[in-house]
Amino acid sequence: MEMCSAIGVNLQRGMNFRLCGAESVILMSRREGAPYDDQVEEDGRTLIYEGHDCSKGRNCRDPKAIDQPEHNPSGSLSQNGLFAEAVRRFKETGELPERVRVFEKIRDGIWVYNGVFELLNSKSDYSTGRRVFKFTLRLLDTNPPIATGQPLIRVEDDRIIPSWVKLAVWKRDQGQCVKCGSNSSLHFDHIIPYSKGGSSKDPENVQILCGRHNLAKRDKIE
Ligand SMILES: [Zn+2]
Repeated sequence: MEMCSAIGVNLQRGMNFRLCGAESVILMSRREGAPYDDQVEEDGRTLIYEGHDCSKGRNCRDPKAIDQPEHNPSGSLSQNGLFAEAVRRFKETGELPERVRVFEKIRDGIWVYNGVFELLNSKSDYSTGRRVFKFTLRLLDTNPPIATGQPLIRVEDDRIIPSWVKLAVWKRDQGQCVKCGSNSSLHFDHIIPYSKGGSSKDPENVQILCGRHNLAKRDKIE
């Protein structure tokens, strides 16, 4: 719900090209049994995001058995096609890379914000005997310009916190701000910032803060 209110829409789909004006949004999951194979590379800033299957129906009885579609049955570009097209424009016309907000499901009903990424590459992978889109996205180092006039959620200036850490912290902090108990606009906060040597992989260095306390802490550090 936080995620939806942050973006102002109700997300039903995993891939959402230019959902709110200039912003694209994707939902990822690295949980066991997740429908797609999304991966974060060693550096923690690069996401390999798998395209999506056709939705089950008359023309698509077994989504995992056939190529991921580039077009909808109507002929318009599918979400895979829209993201691939944005990469083409970026590479061929020098347009800026598409900016994509990434949310990650860490357990049922719990989504966390991983930041704004740039969509840099798209390729088709046939290693499983069918066409699967693989998109490469890279975490932005800085805050993007604000296109909508609304404040964006601050992007962490450090690496992605692994899912298992988020889950452990979520349980320990009981899904609420450790300062005030609020459960709105929650952020995973590095107690010692990554830039000062704090670890993303140690639950002891991560805590949950509400938006207000997160901002207050940042103001103090900066
Ligand atoms: Zn708080």
